[in-house]
Amino acid sequence: MFGRISHGLTPEERTRRARHVLHARPRRPLRVRQAVQFGTVAIIIYIGLCFVRWVHGLERGVTDGARSPGVEGFLPIASLISLRHWVETGVVNMVHPAGLMILCLILLTALLLKKAFCSWICPVGTFSEYLARASHKVFKRRVKLPKWLDWPLQSIKYLLLAFFAFTIFFVMTREQVAQFLDQPYNRVSDIKMLYFFTHASAATVWVLGILTVLSFAVPYFWCRYLCPYGALLGLVSLASPLKIVRSTSACTNCRQCASVCPSFLDVDLTTTVHSVECTGCLECVVACPESQALQLQPTGLLSRWKVKVRPAVFAVLVAGLFYGGIQVAQLAGVWRGQTDQRELVERVRQGMTGSEYDHVGRPQSNR
Ligand code: SF4
Ligand code: SF4
Repeated sequence: MFGRISHGLTPEERTRRARHVLHARPRRPLRVRQAVQFGTVAIIIYIGLCFVRWVHGLERGVTDGARSPGVEGFLPIASLISLRHWVETGVVNMVHPAGLMILCLILLTALLLKKAFCSWICPVGTFSEYLARASHKVFKRRVKLPKWLDWPLQSIKYLLLAFFAFTIFFVMTREQVAQFLDQPYNRVSDIKMLYFFTHASAATVWVLGILTVLSFAVPYFWCRYLCPYGALLGLVSLASPLKIVRSTSACTNCRQCASVCPSFLDVDLTTTVHSVECTGCLECVVACPESQALQLQPTGLLSRWKVKVRPAVFAVLVAGLFYGGIQVAQLAGVWRGQTDQRELVERVRQGMTGSEYDHVGRPQSNR
C-alpha cells in the first residue's frame, strides 16, 4: 500500500541505487502540468484580489460586488461538516456551498484520477514543488529523511485526518452540525480567514515561516507529513482505476523514473504503483526514455482497456473534471452562498469578536 516492498537488492545495489536516485540532476517539470498549476494560481490570485476588494467594501458599509465563492475552497473543515450535513439530510447548506462543491470535486478527482489534485491544482502543492526544486538546486541533491524518521512523521497527517473525521462524523451530533453551519463563526469564516493573514499575529508569521523553511530543507514537508487533506485524498486514490504501470520487458532499469519521483517511490522496482503517496504527477512517465516501459493506464476491473493515458489527455481530464464540475455547480445553483450582504456589513462593523465567532463558539447566539 505504501509502495515500500522488499526488492531483493543486495546492500551494495541498494546503496548504488539510492545514490543515483538522490543525486540525479533536476529536470524541467512537465509543461502541461505546469500550465494547469500556473493557470490555477492565476485564478486564485484573481479570486483573492476580488475578495479583498469586496471585504474592504463591507468595512466601508458598501455591499456592491459579489463575494468570491472560490475562497471557500480554503475552508476544508467547514466543508467536511457541510458534507456530513448534505449526506444526512440531502440538503446543501447554502452558507458556503462552493466549499462543499470544491471538496466533493477534489474527492471525485482522487477517486478517478489519483491524487492529481495535489500535483496539478493545489496551490500549496505548487508552492511546495517549487520550494523542493529550489532545495534540489541549492543542496545539489534531493533531501530525503531516513525511514526511521520519515515513517513516524508521515503518520501525523493520518492522525490529524482521523481526529477531524472522528470529531465531525462521530462526536458532533446532527443538531451540532446544523448549528455550526449556521452560526456566526461559519457565516464569516472566509472573512476571518482573510484577516488571519492580513492581521497576522507574530505566532502566525512564525508558524508560516517555519513551515516554509521546513519545506525547503525537507521537500514537501507540509504535503508529505502534515496535510490531512492529502492524507484523505491518498486513501481515496487507492480506489482509482488509473495507476502507473511498468512493463518489465520494456524497462532497462535506468532508474530515471525513481530519480524524479517527488514521493520517492520505487517506480523502477515495482510493476504497478499502488502507493497513497503517488500524486499522478506523471514526471516518471515523461522521464522514462523507453516509450513502452512506463504508462498511466487503467488497472483492476478496467485493465481490459489497454489505453495509455498521455499527459495531455490527463491534463484535460484533471482540469476538465475540476473546473467543469465548478461550472455544473454554478448552473445547478449550489455555488454562491445566500447570506445577506447587509448582515455581513453589520458583522464586519461589529468586529466579529465574541464567543459566537470562536471556532467552537456558542451556536446561534447573538445572531
Ligand atoms: S510514481 Fe510517478 S506519477 Fe506517482 S508521484 Fe511518483 S513520479 Fe509522480
Ligand atoms: S521504467 Fe523507464 S525510467 Fe524507470 S527504470 Fe525502467 S526504463 Fe528506466
